[in-house]
Amino acid sequence: MRCLNTGLRHSAFHMAKTVYNWSKDLIVCTNGKKILTVEQMNMLQRKGIKVYEQKIKSLIGGNGSLEAVIFEDGEEVKRNGGFLTPEWIQATTFGQSLGCKTHELGGIITDQFGRTNIEGIYAAGDTSVIAPSQVIIAAAEGSSAAMGVNTDLSQDDFN
Ligand SMILES: Cc1cc2nc3c(=O)[nH]c(=O)nc-3n(C[C@H](O)[C@H](O)[C@H](O)COP(=O)(O)OP(=O)(O)OC[C@H]3O[C@@H](n4cnc5c(N)ncnc54)[C@H](O)[C@@H]3O)c2cc1C
Repeated sequence: MRCLNTGLRHSAFHMAKTVYNWSKDLIVCTNGKKILTVEQMNMLQRKGIKVYEQKIKSLIGGNGSLEAVIFEDGEEVKRNGGFLTPEWIQATTFGQSLGCKTHELGGIITDQFGRTNIEGIYAAGDTSVIAPSQVIIAAAEGSSAAMGVNTDLSQDDFN
């Protein structure tokens, strides 16, 4: 498959390595952004993955299939499949409003039992871990946070 990967920030490099498992005919488009380090560019180049840093004008195709990428400078590259790397952001900021500390992606920092830096506030799932986010991880974190809540409430009786 002639494949395209277009994405933002460091996740684009990660995605390029993942997609390379499936297709060796791969290009990376950063859509006008300089998001890859020189080291990353060299690594991709050594694998024959060309990086296009110019802005994309359009993606063309038919019947739901990609056929080519057209760049703003007029260059056209034939492709028949592609992956987009989205940028993840937290949908809500109520954690910050409550004074909870967050990490660089905006998730609420917790210990392994969902405790935040604010006593009585626990977090689990996508509010704390935005990537990788999976239902099974969120459910497991919810279970751990429930243990944290129960442990702390039980402990209260002995304080
Ligand atoms: C496009 C997409 C595809 C995905 N595909 C997969 C997949 O294939 N497999 C997989 O395992 N995971 C997948 N995930 C991730 C998975 O959906 C999440 O990790 C999981 O749903 C997180 O569960 P959660 O309970 O933490 O949050 P959520 O499921 O987001 O639940 C939070 C709930 O809180 C509600 N809420 C928000 N703010 C407030 C408020 N102020 N007051 C009251 N309620 C509020 C929301 O409406 C929502 O119902 C995908 C996620 C996305 C976005």
